[in-house]
Amino acid sequence: MSAAEVLEKLRRLSEKGVRWLEVHFTDLSGRLRAFTVPLHEIDEKAIERGLGQLDGSSVEGFTTIAESDLVVKPDFSTLVEQLPWNPKKARVIADIYLSMGRGRFNRDPRYIAQRTVEYLAEQGYRAYFGPEVEFMLLDSLTIDVFTPAAGISYSVSSRESPLESSQYFQMFKKAYHTPTPIDQLASIREEIAEVLEDYFGFTVEAAHHEVAATGQIEIDFRFGELVETADRVITLKYVARNIAAKYGMVATFMPKPISGDNGNGMHTHVSLWDKDGKKNLFYDPNDEYAEVSQTARYFIGGLIEHGRALAALVAPTTNSYRRLVPGFEAPIYLVWSKANRSAAIRIPVYYKGEEKAKRIEFRPPDPSCNPYLAFAAIVLAGLDGIKKKIDPGDPVDKDVYHMSPEEKRQLGIKELPRNLEEALDELESDHEFLKPVFDKDVIETYIELKREEAKTEKLYPNPIEVYMYAWI
Ligand code: GLN
Ligand code: MG
Ligand code: MG
Ligand code: MG
Repeated sequence: MSAAEVLEKLRRLSEKGVRWLEVHFTDLSGRLRAFTVPLHEIDEKAIERGLGQLDGSSVEGFTTIAESDLVVKPDFSTLVEQLPWNPKKARVIADIYLSMGRGRFNRDPRYIAQRTVEYLAEQGYRAYFGPEVEFMLLDSLTIDVFTPAAGISYSVSSRESPLESSQYFQMFKKAYHTPTPIDQLASIREEIAEVLEDYFGFTVEAAHHEVAATGQIEIDFRFGELVETADRVITLKYVARNIAAKYGMVATFMPKPISGDNGNGMHTHVSLWDKDGKKNLFYDPNDEYAEVSQTARYFIGGLIEHGRALAALVAPTTNSYRRLVPGFEAPIYLVWSKANRSAAIRIPVYYKGEEKAKRIEFRPPDPSCNPYLAFAAIVLAGLDGIKKKIDPGDPVDKDVYHMSPEEKRQLGIKELPRNLEEALDELESDHEFLKPVFDKDVIETYIELKREEAKTEKLYPNPIEVYMYAWI
């Protein structure tokens, strides 16, 4: 869109009563940041060189000694004309630039994602991503870490809580694909999906109650290229939170808010195509196991090889590792398989002979990740596997949860890290594969930021510790 076209569009919007442009970007750890500008402030200059609006020293992960004035340049191809909960506002996602016309800011996660797309193209590839975003819609979520009983109090309440102990759930144990009226979230979930389609340009593929009985839902949307898909993930979180707020509810994407039931994952489906998007390089109709090509196998080899370091980017919170435990359909083992849900990588085999649908499903990610960085890192690990022809080993179709340690050792099965610190240690020693697009200072800052989170978490006793040890 040229500057003139943007101006014309904004003029038409202001005629419709839109007054504000809400500008979005994410910090390094993936939190959405937003500010608003009146439409009359958007002139040709603002469109061409961006808005001088950002104090980088107040944004997590953006702080550098020399750079605090940053320029925010809206990407008008992401313009959403009106927000359903506030028709006076339009929304746009932005790119971050250095001051004084010195070009892009290397810590802007969206820039890292864009560079990954360029790198893919240079190697002759195009990649598609399809995340399955899971989250919980709760009636309330209260935290108390500031009183003297610090760290021992948090509670959630869900309108579905009474159902957890009802006969229905005792019979079926799990809430996966529960129908109404037992599913009490259907209409809110569908409203989120409708807003995503009608206002934000998504094509929703499915929306359903997930396994966890306490308000867990999943919304799936049509796959797309890296940057647009990461844009959609941050948008989905934003929309879910705003629609939940309308009902006085809270949407949480933390990986494991409730013990004893499934956590929130963000399984990520990936396929690699030639540069023009004509041929799916993961598809091989002659492969008997799952119609996957040798290229896909090498890509999986890369994911397994770098899987422990990758965890720091795709499962990047201390809470992520409470999800990655046995028994809740979350992966622990760095193996691949077509059906095995204890495996980190799965090849969906729903249809036969369908090139377009052939993809791999990478299961470790959760929605606490920064999707720009996570998708970039996933594809870079896979490309490294292709470049080095890394053998992923044989698929493991047995339930790895139930294998003996001896059997796992024999098969050379690696496990995901057990906690964030372990993941960060891995990333510290294994990040060469990220180098084509992640600058050294980005990786260092990221590790530093996440080490700080791990350190903070360690300072607080948690509820189960109090239960186990209060009377020891
Ligand atoms: N919630 C599970 C996870 O944490 C996934 C469940 C599913 O989609 N089958 O990965
Ligand atoms: Mg799903
Ligand atoms: Mg799911
Ligand atoms: Mg899945």
